[in-house]
Amino acid sequence: MPWSRLGGDWRLDRGPHGWDFRVRPLLVFWEATRACPLACRHCRASALTDPLPGELATGEAERFLESVADFGRPSPILVVTGGDPLARADLLPLLERARDLGLRLALAPAVSDALSESVLSRLAELGVSAMSISLDGEGPAHDRIRGVPGHWGKTCAAIRTAIDAGLRVQVNTCAMRDNGHQLPAIFARVRGLDAAGWEVFFLIRQGRGTGVEELTPEECEACAHFLYDAACRGLTVRTVEGPFFRRVVRQREAGAPPPDNALYRTLTATLQDCAGPPGECLAHTAGTRDGNGIAFVAYDGTIHPGGFLPIPCGNVRTASLRDVYVDHPLFRDLRAPERFRGRCGACEFRDLCGGSRARAFHRFGNPLGEDPACAYVPPAWTSRGEAEA
Ligand code: SF4
Repeated sequence: MPWSRLGGDWRLDRGPHGWDFRVRPLLVFWEATRACPLACRHCRASALTDPLPGELATGEAERFLESVADFGRPSPILVVTGGDPLARADLLPLLERARDLGLRLALAPAVSDALSESVLSRLAELGVSAMSISLDGEGPAHDRIRGVPGHWGKTCAAIRTAIDAGLRVQVNTCAMRDNGHQLPAIFARVRGLDAAGWEVFFLIRQGRGTGVEELTPEECEACAHFLYDAACRGLTVRTVEGPFFRRVVRQREAGAPPPDNALYRTLTATLQDCAGPPGECLAHTAGTRDGNGIAFVAYDGTIHPGGFLPIPCGNVRTASLRDVYVDHPLFRDLRAPERFRGRCGACEFRDLCGGSRARAFHRFGNPLGEDPACAYVPPAWTSRGEAEA
């Protein structure tokens, strides 16, 4: 089947169960603080040990939570991130307020002494339905990236304790040049720990991540095909800032072969050694993208289309989050793939995938530009023969 027929039946502005991304995000990320006890090499927020001036005060944070509830029921999922959200002394009372407002809650804490067994139990009592914990390599490889000796062991222990406390734990991995070859080992670890899913984030060079090397487009393609294979071995897999994974899933399901390159062969050989034969594919290909099903509120209340797309569109101190999400021209453009440029604009998969708007912004200064990490050359782009940026 030609790929041009594979990309066409997907409504990008629809989420699960007919959720209309034009009027309501599925995910609102709240950077509750930039304070964090860790100093990871790829940290988007360049988090520091102390809070930055201008952080939302408790009363302002409560009003922000009310503005998330204004989207109505079912509410967007509020993903509380940082920095380390546990570095906020008022976090637990704020989560209690969010629960009382009927918000669905997820938390992305750092693994530190603050993430104790009693705190995990309290989070479960407060109705935090999901938690993400980051694992970027096996043993010393993870410690190197996170900058703390012994952190890998603490992370594996925290995942187990959180699951035992009744939380649904997703493991997050940042894929970059340093650890691409470790993906099969991380996959085996995540599956062995009984995590509910694995989310692989393709590095965006922002914050401290500007000093970290990205995967090349060919390596991204190999990793995306590997992730498809991994998703056929009993673990839900999704990507962040790697929407070309959705194209790869669609192509592989239609019988397309994987790439014939050394990295893909290495990744899958290890996968077959450690994971057995393939079964049902659990690749998660929901159509969210920065500004489309996603809004991000920074520590100081600034509203962005995503955590890796730091273009200010308003501030919850002075503007309605709902109005900004629905009506701001940038949010509207980000929901209109026919406005995308370069290969993404010409691509038959643009509704399904659309490319990373954040990576386009960081590389070309244009959030509507093409995603430079994608190796795919759409037939319409080749026949157009344009050199559009
Ligand atoms: S060219 Fe753009 S829209 Fe097409 S698959 Fe690649 S990233 Fe996605």
